[in-house]
Amino acid sequence: MAKVLCVLYDDPVTGYPKTYARDTIPKIERYPDGQTAPTPQAIDFKPGVLLGSVPGELGLRNFLESRGHRLIVTSDKDGPDSVFEKELADAEIVISQPFWPAYLTAERIAKAPELKLAITAGIGSDHVDLQAAIERKITVAEVTFCNSISVAEHVVMMILGLVRNYIPSYQWVVKGGWNIADCVARSYDVEGMEVGTVAAGRIGLAVLRRLRPFDVKLHYTDRHRLSESVEKELNLTFHPNVESMVKVCDVITINCPLHPETENLFNASLIAKMKRGAYIINTARGKICDRDAIVSALESGQLAGYAGDVWFPQPAPKGHPWRTMPHHGMTPHISGSSLSAQTRYAAGTREILECWFDGKPIRNEYLVVDGGKLAGVGAHSYSPGNATRGSEEAVKFKKS
Ligand code: NDP
Repeated sequence: MAKVLCVLYDDPVTGYPKTYARDTIPKIERYPDGQTAPTPQAIDFKPGVLLGSVPGELGLRNFLESRGHRLIVTSDKDGPDSVFEKELADAEIVISQPFWPAYLTAERIAKAPELKLAITAGIGSDHVDLQAAIERKITVAEVTFCNSISVAEHVVMMILGLVRNYIPSYQWVVKGGWNIADCVARSYDVEGMEVGTVAAGRIGLAVLRRLRPFDVKLHYTDRHRLSESVEKELNLTFHPNVESMVKVCDVITINCPLHPETENLFNASLIAKMKRGAYIINTARGKICDRDAIVSALESGQLAGYAGDVWFPQPAPKGHPWRTMPHHGMTPHISGSSLSAQTRYAAGTREILECWFDGKPIRNEYLVVDGGKLAGVGAHSYSPGNATRGSEEAVKFKKS
């Protein structure tokens, strides 16, 4: 019998939904590169319902209890007195979503002698100290591709929202105004702009494909170059490093994982090399951008706008300066947790658990750490090390 500890976000303030805006969601069977969507033996939830909050339980309770395992679900994840930290002492498996991450620091891993598997119900396992997981031979797995397209859609929305000045214009309507000049004094067309992505993996490439019809000029930088045919099809300009790309771009979208190579990549010095009035859209991870450098660049006009849904730590404390800085289009971390995405990552989490309990290999593309080293997607896209430093600050949200 295994103890499974699952950390999920809180319910809506009005309670767990009784009805939904739509009755069905499209069934996605394959992703654009041909990879199949999750294939668990069964699911115990209706696609399209809220699975990521505590009562949703990622649809796992029947499955786990019918096999004799114990499931503990909590949203109380930060601080030494949290339910998470207490229950971690004898947990074999930890599951959490990057939107409401259960930070697995080296200190917490040391307090969890039974821990063998950490599942990210989503993509991006930077909330786990990967170095500590490597050393303790803990398997880390994520549901690769489950919400990459969800994020790509969000990125396109945020680019258009910032460049066209959507949010302030919407606010004028709500305030009862008809202030056209106020709205358009910061509104531009995206057409003809130079748009670059940091990383052209599953999300980055999907963003490039979705932007192509807008008649923008597309750029990318990545550790591995795309095929010549894709570069030609999308008329892409490859840059060997991020500095070369930011110098020429009007819009930068960040789509790489957070790991030691990318932590603090967008610091004051890199932002100073950008074109004045550029926009940054960061739906990758908050820590890839220096918090205070972003605020200063928006205040000085070096950046015309910043949008995204990722912060550090999460949840962001009420006083986090990104909540109030000028010309931002931030949301809480939601782009990869649409009801559509939840269906896929809940099914993927179950698929990983089925493999684990049945002694079958977890798909290679889901593995981040296995057998004491980076594996699968981890070996391709991450570097060893730790990006969780400072995560204990997440407790400030609870206290504020
Ligand atoms: P992929 O693994 O498909 O793509 C990641 C890409 O980043 C790879 O092409 C990788 O390069 C590249 N990369 C890694 N390090 C660098 C670097 N130092 N410089 C340039 N490129 C680099 O993952 P996805 O596209 O699906 O997701 C990317 C990230 O987006 C996730 O790790 C996560 O942090 C974030 N995300 C956010 C979500 C949200 O809700 N906001 C939801 C899902 C993901 P290569 O493999 O060629 O070495």
